[in-house]
Amino acid sequence: MRSVRSWGRLGEAKHRVVALSNAKENALRHVLAESLPGLAYGNGRSYGDACLNPNGNLWQSRDLDHFVAFDPENGCLVCEPGVLLKDIMELTVPLGWMLPVTPGTQMITVAGAVANDVHGKNHHVYGSFGDHVERIRLLRTDGEIIECGPTVRSDWFAATLGGVGLTGFIVQVTLRLRRVPSAWLEVESKPYFDLSEFFALSDKAEPDWENTVSWIDCLGGGSGRGIFMQANFATVEGDTVPSTQLARKPKKIPFVPPVSFINRWSLKPFNNIYFWLNRQKKERILSHYQPFFYPLDNLHDWNKLYGPSGFYQYQSVIPREVGQEATSEMLREIRQSDQGSFLSVLKTFGDRRSVGMLSFPEPGVTLALDFPNRGKVTLDLFERLDSIVRQARGRLYLAKDARMPRDLFQAGYPRLVEFIKYRDPGISSAMSRRLID
Ligand SMILES: Cc1cc2nc3c(=O)[nH]c(=O)nc-3n(C[C@H](O)[C@H](O)[C@H](O)COP(=O)(O)OP(=O)(O)OC[C@H]3O[C@@H](n4cnc5c(N)ncnc54)[C@H](O)[C@@H]3O)c2cc1C
Repeated sequence: MRSVRSWGRLGEAKHRVVALSNAKENALRHVLAESLPGLAYGNGRSYGDACLNPNGNLWQSRDLDHFVAFDPENGCLVCEPGVLLKDIMELTVPLGWMLPVTPGTQMITVAGAVANDVHGKNHHVYGSFGDHVERIRLLRTDGEIIECGPTVRSDWFAATLGGVGLTGFIVQVTLRLRRVPSAWLEVESKPYFDLSEFFALSDKAEPDWENTVSWIDCLGGGSGRGIFMQANFATVEGDTVPSTQLARKPKKIPFVPPVSFINRWSLKPFNNIYFWLNRQKKERILSHYQPFFYPLDNLHDWNKLYGPSGFYQYQSVIPREVGQEATSEMLREIRQSDQGSFLSVLKTFGDRRSVGMLSFPEPGVTLALDFPNRGKVTLDLFERLDSIVRQARGRLYLAKDARMPRDLFQAGYPRLVEFIKYRDPGISSAMSRRLID
């Protein structure tokens, strides 16, 4: 038995870790059958309990990391489940191909990206990760293999995309990449001073800009100020580009501080400084894709900064019609509770429905905030935020969740009833026991 944590480091739980290193299906079939019930574990970048199975089996798939095929003519890539998005980008970007959708870190596995149907900064153009998956090869714990895709056994495909690992073990994924003119983006930043300005900037940017996202000062005054960013891939000559932006040697947080560095005394001044510094910044810059898409990947283990009690992330999506009002209410609650974080993101999702039965993105606005775990005060705040989300008919993101109540899950994910039919009875997770079983 070994202790395993998820990204939020809210606690450690003992697991029987089964390291999978042989992708041959017969071998996998055998290992899985020997360790039931179990759960697949990718790279543990889910914040809550989606990737945990305390006191049970954990099938670690990170070492199943081979590329099976890549066609540089059409961008079709076939790989094993444990391949990191970072490995894909390093292989394909020099050839002019890129993953169409990537989240805020590239340190996640392909199967993890499928199982949470992750989204990025370009949802209004490219949708979510699953929109670019052509085929999933799924091994059920009874030994059956299911090949599914948008046009083949599409019901299994819809259940597995965003299915938080509960429909079977993903053994292979086929993806369709997109072309990019270079590894660089032209990025424009604009300060905003309240939420209506944020929505106006988003509406204006979406038709012309592929990537839109904003940092929001959740503790600042008014109805929410922040820095809005819009970016498009740029055509550049390699030589003319400043190399200073390329990935530097990653820094590491060497220990867990005895208390969280992120607390009510550090946050307000930090947010103030960040806002005013960025406000002054040059409006338009050229940025390499790595610092633009994955600003925190260069600081390994930054999650340790929250100290021994760990932290929660609260990510909601609220339908567009009531998005401004509900976001404003949530920010008011957060300010009044004197909690909140530096890492706060506000962004709109495009007007497109996700394929996955339990996929998170839906048309609307998504707010994601980190909160140091201060026990009851933090959980009490979440209950107040839950009421706003519930009333606005929104939902919370499973990849980030560690505590939402069942009724909110059921209300936010109406296709749950349909999903249940595709569950693999040999798979169980802390999240499935908390929300479904
Ligand atoms: C800094 C940071 C930024 C992030 N930004 C974003 C963002 O912008 N957008 C976004 O959508 N998400 C974001 N995330 C969340 C992250 O993308 C997801 O939680 C992702 O699923 C993590 O992948 P993983 O490989 O670490 O998988 P894990 O967290 O280990 O597992 C995730 C799920 O995948 C399942 N799984 C893993 N392998 C398999 C397999 N072989 N077969 C079946 N199921 C499997 C697990 O059972 C689990 O349910 C962010 C996370 C971090 C830490």
